[in-house]
Amino acid sequence: MPDPLTLPPGLEVGVATAAYQVEGAVTEDGRVPSIWDTFAHTPGRTLGGDTGDVACDHYHRMPEDVALMAGLGVDAYRFSIAWPRALGGPRGLDFYDRLVDALLARGIAPLPTLYHWDLPQAFEDEGGWLSRATAERFAEYAGSVADRLGDRVRRWITLNEPVVHMAEGYAFGTGAPGRELLLGALPAAHHQLLGHGLAVRALRERGATQVMITNNCTPVWPASEDEADVTAAAVYDAFHNRLFTDPVLLSTYPPELAGALAGLIHDGDLEIIATPVDALGVNYYNPTRVGAPPPDAALPFDLRPIEGMPVTAFGWPVVPSGLRELLTGLRERYAAALPPIYVTENGCSTADGVDDQARIEFHAGHLRALGEAAAAGVDVRGYFVWSLLDNFEWAAGFSQRFGLVRVDFGTRERTPKASYHWLRELLATR
Ligand code: BGC
Ligand code: BGC
Repeated sequence: MPDPLTLPPGLEVGVATAAYQVEGAVTEDGRVPSIWDTFAHTPGRTLGGDTGDVACDHYHRMPEDVALMAGLGVDAYRFSIAWPRALGGPRGLDFYDRLVDALLARGIAPLPTLYHWDLPQAFEDEGGWLSRATAERFAEYAGSVADRLGDRVRRWITLNEPVVHMAEGYAFGTGAPGRELLLGALPAAHHQLLGHGLAVRALRERGATQVMITNNCTPVWPASEDEADVTAAAVYDAFHNRLFTDPVLLSTYPPELAGALAGLIHDGDLEIIATPVDALGVNYYNPTRVGAPPPDAALPFDLRPIEGMPVTAFGWPVVPSGLRELLTGLRERYAAALPPIYVTENGCSTADGVDDQARIEFHAGHLRALGEAAAAGVDVRGYFVWSLLDNFEWAAGFSQRFGLVRVDFGTRERTPKASYHWLRELLATR
């Protein structure tokens, strides 16, 4: 038996969701279509043709979901605000107004993310994140949300995982908007980062006290010690990790990618992107094993399976020590430039049902790894479980269940799983 799990003192523990994955109500209160509405309604794009039209119906069941969080005893709730609602007119943000009040009434700190991949379709029609104008629009939107909620909310996450949005949305086409540009997707990186920096400024002007970006970070493991594999792994690390963290923390792009980005960068952009943040949000799921690509491959790296580890229902390897490796690695890489870290997502999909022992083991293992990184001196301040509810898992539709709470997608009935009760007891021991 390992020692009983204890949480680092002061660690903020929360749960996370995202608007399109839980809300539903896609045509209510003026909401305009997003790229995910278009994508999910395009035949063949999502498993079984699933869409977020209703999802968890969180838009109508929000009070019940806030009560579930209160029962769990979490400190904070990370949710995302739907840009397509903000654009939809005066009633668009009413829902978040009520949500924030409901959270505060229960003593749960709201941590909104301004962009979790639901770009208004009208902006995609004008180039989406390939266009610089989208960055400016994002900052205007961020300001308008802060004007509405900033009297109660002073902490914000700008973007969720710009790397995954660039890769799935613009490079490989497995997520909205479904473009398959491979390396031609790089402008979506620069323009998201520019939008982030402009938004940090807009939020600060409105009294924000804690602003961060959430990056998907992965420890990169070379497939072998061969020089070609080690080189490919370094290139992958540049694309997946450093492309999104170096400019924010160091005001530079990784040298491997600077050439490809050069034409996009206007004078002053890097200063905007490096507008100081108060924290770094890190989403961790698993490490990535990388080898040299075959000759004439379109990409300069080749992803390889990680063998010999347990896997989630999605088939993703379960490597809790990877979280410690990631956190200590960030500190080594960025040293004094690294702000405090919040793990803004960590979780796994499991088979349907409420007896989710695998999820309990997953979170226990990752919280231990987080504790080890904290004990080694990494300033890690928060841990958010992905996710409160089983929800719309993007292209995988409702087939992958990440929730502490089971959702019946016929009735939308919620049932706390074993992991919910486990986490409630763990939080109660503090
Ligand atoms: C990867 C995860 C990543 C996810 C993004 C998966 O293929 O294994 O690390 O977070 O994609 O949705
Ligand atoms: C995303 C979530 C997603 C989760 C599991 C993260 O990449 O931010 O929206 O549901 O991974 O795939």
